[in-house]
Amino acid sequence: MNLEITEAEIKILDDARAAFGGEDAGCRIIIEECSEAIKVLIKRERIKAGELDETALNNRMAIQEELADLMVVLAQGMRMFGAGVIEEHAQRKVDRLAQRVAEAKERKDNS
Ligand SMILES: [Mg+2]
Repeated sequence: MNLEITEAEIKILDDARAAFGGEDAGCRIIIEECSEAIKVLIKRERIKAGELDETALNNRMAIQEELADLMVVLAQGMRMFGAGVIEEHAQRKVDRLAQRVAEAKERKDNS
């Protein structure tokens, strides 16, 4: 499994690390963005309990925004920690997920 990142995007990510504090700052931003995504996803659970449609729509847009932020910091993290190894881990995890899905289907079919 891999994410397609252009050479121009790689340059932007590398320039950003050079301009804004290197790997330590990059790691802090990853933590911040993960926490922001957690916050909007937790809020979604509360909204499902019965708030207004407009509130749900605003939450959905906030989730989209935070997932976009995660895409960017994920790409930055891959630049910092080794895209090839991370992609190998991701592929192994997706393969394992596919196996679990197949096993779950088999259990359901046999019940
Ligand atoms: Mg954010």
